[in-house]
Amino acid sequence: MYEVRFHGRGGQGAVMAAQTLAEAAVLEGYHAQAFPYFGAERRGAPVKAFARIDKGRITLKSQIYNPDMLVLLDETLPEIEPVAEGLKAEGVAVVNTALAPEEFDLGISVVTTTVDATTIALEKLKAPIVNTSILGAMAKAQDFVSLDSIVKAIQDKFGERLGARAANLNSEAARAAYQSARTGRCKAERPFIQKAQWLPDWNELPIGVALPTTQVNGVVLGPGSAWQNMVGTWRTSSPHYDIEKCIRCLRCWWSCPEGTIKRQEDDHMKFDYRYCKGCGICAQICPVSAIEMVRGVKTW
Ligand code: SF4
Ligand code: SF4
Repeated sequence: MYEVRFHGRGGQGAVMAAQTLAEAAVLEGYHAQAFPYFGAERRGAPVKAFARIDKGRITLKSQIYNPDMLVLLDETLPEIEPVAEGLKAEGVAVVNTALAPEEFDLGISVVTTTVDATTIALEKLKAPIVNTSILGAMAKAQDFVSLDSIVKAIQDKFGERLGARAANLNSEAARAAYQSARTGRCKAERPFIQKAQWLPDWNELPIGVALPTTQVNGVVLGPGSAWQNMVGTWRTSSPHYDIEKCIRCLRCWWSCPEGTIKRQEDDHMKFDYRYCKGCGICAQICPVSAIEMVRGVKTW
């Protein structure tokens, strides 16, 4: 699996960049996912976005803590947060800066591609929206998603939202960035404090039905509280469980938000359809497609 973490500021297009990279990877025949993480949601505030690319189906849903590629849409971000945190030693960085890779100080020394994406964006788009320029540089920094696929994804995504003219200008920005991007090894002079990696403790794990139901002043809380609300009536499609395919990984059991899935003694699953609201999370998370959502209110 190849994981990419984007750091930018609100308005620079980090989220669109992640989505466009994922679309380009799909065009190359890979599976991909892209999703954002927002803090204070306003223009200029630091934002993160993530993309995962793999040959097979991707069931991992977490943020990316140890990326293979780090993308900085704003070169000032290392001054305010340890953006390189968790980047693999053999990973690569792609940075929007006018500096050569050897002049840029990321705080750790890794192979780095730099591009003056802001100047390219201002020339091509007349606005400092650097996402498509940075995508062009990213095409140069790895070798499994080509520039052609990235440009095709830009045409599709930007064309659909902003029209053909905007799609063409953004494609030009990507191509210009690809041509001018430079690769070398960045400096590591900036003090870099690697924070301890966050791992969830049991309080933060998705609870499914793994913990007992609790009662406070007669009100049932936590897993199993769904009996108070027969959410099974919300359902428009129902999970069908194929016991033969099930490898008993327990992912569905952990993930069902209603505590509908009961773990049997042999670790096979049993569904209590009175409380299944048909959200489909179990089918999405199952790595072997042992659960299939079937239209209608079924109970089997
Ligand atoms: S569809 Fe699956 S995850 Fe959603 S409520 Fe029903 S059993 Fe739980
Ligand atoms: S996620 Fe799929 S394979 Fe894993 S226990 Fe549930 S049904 Fe079985």
